[in-house]
Amino acid sequence: MRILIFGPPGAGKGTQAQFISKRYNIPHISTGDIFRENIRNNTPLGIEAKRYSEAGELVPDMVTNAMVRERLLQEDTADGFLLDGFPRTPAQADALEHMLPEGTKLNTVLNMIVTEDEIISRLGKRGRSDDEESTIRKRLRIYRDTTKPIAEYYRAKGILTDIQGIGTIEDITRCIIEAIEKHK
Ligand code: AMP
Repeated sequence: MRILIFGPPGAGKGTQAQFISKRYNIPHISTGDIFRENIRNNTPLGIEAKRYSEAGELVPDMVTNAMVRERLLQEDTADGFLLDGFPRTPAQADALEHMLPEGTKLNTVLNMIVTEDEIISRLGKRGRSDDEESTIRKRLRIYRDTTKPIAEYYRAKGILTDIQGIGTIEDITRCIIEAIEKHK
C-alpha cells in the first residue's frame, strides 16, 4: 500500500498516520519528523531546514525532494509506505511520481479536512516552537495557496478521499480504513 495523508497543519495527520502505519505494517514517513530529528542532531540538513521551519516556511523543494528520494530507496518501503507532510508543492508532487518504483502507483490520498478556526485553536494548545499564532497563520496561508491545490490533482486521478477531520480519533480512523480498503 502506498498512501499519502494530506491536510493542513493540525489536522491530526500524525495521530492517524501512526494507526495506519501499524495496521498495514508500512513505515510512517513524516517529512516534518525527519526535519525535526535533523534539527535536534544539528546535521547539515537540520541547520538548513531550521531557518525555514522556525519561520513557518517550506524547506526548498530541492532539499526536501532529495531527502524523500533517499528515504524511499530504503528497503522497508518495498511493500509500501505512508507519506505524511509530503508532497506540499506541485514540484514535490511531480518529483514523487518519478520516485515510485517502475510499475507502482499511489493507492490512495487521504485528504483530511478541518476548518481554520479549529486548527488555530488546536495548534495553540500543542506548544511546538513553530506553533505561535502568527507562524500558524503563515503555515495555513502556505497550505491554502501552495499545498491545497495539489489535492485537486489527485482528485482528478480518482485516488483522493476526503476525510472529515472533526470527531473522535476512533471515528476518523474508521473512515480512513474504509477509504484505504476501497483503494487496495
Ligand atoms: P510538519 O510537522 O509536517 O508541519 O512540518 C514542520 C515543518 O517542516 C514545516 O513547517 C516545514 O518547514 C518543514 N516541512 C515538512 N514537510 C515539508 C515539505 N514537504 N516541504 C517543505 N517543507 C516541509
